[in-house]
Amino acid sequence: MIYWIHFLKVLQHKWFVIVAGVRVGGIPFWRLLFHDMSKFSRAEFGPYARKFLADSTPEIEVAFGLAWLHHENRNGHHWGHWIARVGRYSGRPLPMPRSYAREMVADWWAAERSYGKSWDMHNWLVENVPKFDLHQETLSSVYQALSDIGYVETVQEIMRRLR
Ligand SMILES: [Zn+2]
Repeated sequence: MIYWIHFLKVLQHKWFVIVAGVRVGGIPFWRLLFHDMSKFSRAEFGPYARKFLADSTPEIEVAFGLAWLHHENRNGHHWGHWIARVGRYSGRPLPMPRSYAREMVADWWAAERSYGKSWDMHNWLVENVPKFDLHQETLSSVYQALSDIGYVETVQEIMRRLR
């Protein structure tokens, strides 16, 4: 049962990402179609379903940690994908290509619609974006994408919080 619910939730999220992504613009359409496709892989499907729909156990948490890493490793629309692990920039964010930053904004917007049940993500943005580890160029792309969809005041508030 939880697997069926999870399957439908992922499909619904994918649909909202297409709707949001077209409105944000600047994202290749094929990427909106393939968005989060790895959630249907063996490595992610079961662990995600159990994390969100079953009671937590240490095994479920570790399995989800691995599934999340698998997801970030394969999906450039997550900022964690762009954090260097070794070398000169280890532990630091590298600039996300613009279209991935825009896809990330579409993902946030779609998630708000799926979980918050409305398209208004102002509060979520103000609360969360300042905590994310984003390269300055990525932040500019995010501000641009948010401004393009009408979140100009939200961008100003995020800037104030980051000062
Ligand atoms: Zn994703």
